[in-house]
Amino acid sequence: MLALRGISAFPDMLLSFDVERQISIAALDAAMDADRSIFLLAQRDINVDDPEVEDLYIIGTVCFIKQILRMPGGSIRVMVEGKHRARLVRVFSKYPYFDVEIAKIVEVEPARSSDHAEALIRQTHALLRRYAELAPSVSPELLATVMELDNVGYIADYIAQNIYIKHSKKQGILDEPRPLKRIEKLNGILLNEIEILEIELQLRKKTSDRMMKNQREHILREQLKTIQYELGLVGGDDGYSEIDEYREKILKLKAPAEVEEKLLKEVQRLAKQPYSSSEASVIRSYLDTCISLPWNTVTKDRVDVAQTRRILDADHYGLEKVKQRIVEFVAVRQYAPETKGGILCLIGPPGTGKTSIGMSIAKALGRKMARISLGGVHDEAEIRGHRKTYVGAMPGRIITAVAQAGSRNPLLLLDEIDKLGSDYRGDPAAALLEALDPEQNSTFRDHYLELPFDLSDTIFITTANTKSTIPRPLLDRMEVIELTSYTDEEKVQIAKKHLLPKQRKKHGLKSNQLKISDTVIREVISGYTKESGVRTLERELANICRKAVLKFVEEDRKSLTVRSTMLEEFLGPKKYKNEGVRKTDEVGLVRGLAWTSVGGEVLDVEVNVMDGSGKLELTGNLGDVMKESARAGISYIRSRARQLNIDPEFYKKKDIHIHFPEGAVPKDGPSAGITVTLAVISALTGAPVRSDIAMTGEITLRGRILPIGGLKEKTMAALRSGIKTVIIPKENESDLEEIDPLVRNALNFVTTDHIDNILDFALDMKAITPISKDCAKSPAVVPETSGQEENRAILQ
Ligand code: ADP
Repeated sequence: MLALRGISAFPDMLLSFDVERQISIAALDAAMDADRSIFLLAQRDINVDDPEVEDLYIIGTVCFIKQILRMPGGSIRVMVEGKHRARLVRVFSKYPYFDVEIAKIVEVEPARSSDHAEALIRQTHALLRRYAELAPSVSPELLATVMELDNVGYIADYIAQNIYIKHSKKQGILDEPRPLKRIEKLNGILLNEIEILEIELQLRKKTSDRMMKNQREHILREQLKTIQYELGLVGGDDGYSEIDEYREKILKLKAPAEVEEKLLKEVQRLAKQPYSSSEASVIRSYLDTCISLPWNTVTKDRVDVAQTRRILDADHYGLEKVKQRIVEFVAVRQYAPETKGGILCLIGPPGTGKTSIGMSIAKALGRKMARISLGGVHDEAEIRGHRKTYVGAMPGRIITAVAQAGSRNPLLLLDEIDKLGSDYRGDPAAALLEALDPEQNSTFRDHYLELPFDLSDTIFITTANTKSTIPRPLLDRMEVIELTSYTDEEKVQIAKKHLLPKQRKKHGLKSNQLKISDTVIREVISGYTKESGVRTLERELANICRKAVLKFVEEDRKSLTVRSTMLEEFLGPKKYKNEGVRKTDEVGLVRGLAWTSVGGEVLDVEVNVMDGSGKLELTGNLGDVMKESARAGISYIRSRARQLNIDPEFYKKKDIHIHFPEGAVPKDGPSAGITVTLAVISALTGAPVRSDIAMTGEITLRGRILPIGGLKEKTMAALRSGIKTVIIPKENESDLEEIDPLVRNALNFVTTDHIDNILDFALDMKAITPISKDCAKSPAVVPETSGQEENRAILQ
């Protein structure tokens, strides 16, 4: 007996194999010496080199050795022909070869004519055909041969011998002595193989489909590029690298998955566009914009209260309350970094340092900063961007500012939030609200990006000139910090400590090269500026620096001390003469105090009384509230005419014209009531008004004087204009505390709760001149134009 490894021998079939094992060679030799018959029996495990009886199957095939070929190296190639199945009965010895006793298995071949056999054979044919389709290793001859056969058992053996199936399965066929059962078994094996092959085929198809698709796309794209190149639509091979470059950049962004996915999709879209099509350039600018955004760039905060205080003090003079509030704001961040701090809103006149405070906060926190100017923004799209589909669409200002800042957690300074408009193009305040609201802004959606951008780590600081026009919902979400006008003394200090050094540095000057004394600075302030802040002052100082540099260059000088005599040469003639007090008291001319968003102002009221029919004329671009307040004053005068020594019939016989100079500036508010009333009384009685006083207060029909707002700014303006005495409503007395001590000490305050109480004080009754003469005399004194930006004066 010879043990076969991994092959089976079947009856009536030729089989050739190589023999190497000594035990097998010995068996062959012994067989050749006898009748060339050998019993071939398969091993269960092909890895066993020296098999025992248990390692062998029971049923094998008795074969006739047809040929032996001794190969170089000692192995032998044998060709055998199967004779019949046999069963191992007993092993006599294992050495030098297996000497065994076997029993022949006789098979009874059923006739082909049996229907059962025929059906099985047909089934085999069908299965084999399908198998051959699926397994390319099956030779066409196999199929042809099998079709010719009609011996059921032989068909099974033949097929088992010639197809690639597991060795154990082949043995299964060999083990079966009953031909019908054998072919049934074979059909089962074929069916199973077919199933496996079908699954395999499907898998192969899927993989190849994918590969095909990729390949197809690649080929098409290459073709497209060639076509575009041929048509001159792309220059060189830019088209190739561009797409890859975009992909690379996008992956490098490390943006959130949703963003990355969308951008990659856009790149894919770009790849399909002709290079110079307008769609491609839209996609390109979209991608460029998105790539420039700091999706994942974050700066680390440096929250340190002491440091903040130092920086604020170094950059700004005074502003103690404001600084304190900001230090508190930073302290909260230091103490509880997780809490999202509120939105700060700095409110005050222009040039009072709102923007520069914002910058100092950014510096103190170590954040990047960007400014957004909201003045005159009417269109929601300016905040939130236009949809990509619009021609020339761009992201809104918020996203643009973030891109500019270059970090995901910048400090955004929103300037002039009080100048936001709203009209048919949507409400920018609503869009802004969404950006500022910590509840919503972690997924702020810009129309252009169409992607959520996380603004929750952004600090927003807004600035405004007045609280009154800030959209209410926005105001509710902000912490308001008010900055007020500077006194001249403060301005001197700011100029000396901050503005001048800053300008010197800008112009390349050292401190000992350009000296300006406090007195000269004061002169610049009074002669060349009229403002609440220090913006014009800074400009004028820059002007001086420029002129000085010019002198150094032209006259070869090394240093310069600016004297007041040089100011005319440097800055031109004085723009504002200290109006001071008018020298003469005049009839029908009273100075009122107004408050505007750019600070306080002194505003004259002129009244002329002429013979006529009782007409009342109000001019000077006045609002309704102001007109009504003037009418109330006149009604009061009518009711008190006798006591005031006025002709009770004046309202029939006289025309009264009340005028506020600077007619181009719109004015409104009730606080000029006292002023107008006094001016009318003066005009009607002919008593001149003291020229060194100014006043503010609302008047009622009964002559009561009601409190007003903006006292601090108003009194400052009064001081600037050289006024000595200010009449204010009694109820505003407590507000005097708020006023700068310098102003408080310089001015004389008269409080009143009724107009009657101040008549003696304000009017010079002794100097009454006849009305008719006075009317002709009283000149309409127009004060100099303030040179300020146009603003709505609110006499509240
Ligand atoms: P705003 O934003 O309120 O209109 P800015 O911040 O632009 O005003 O201020 C104008 C100029 O005045 C800036 O150069 C600023 O540094 C300077 N400035 C304003 N207030 C102060 C101050 N208290 N100390 C130092 N410089 C100041």
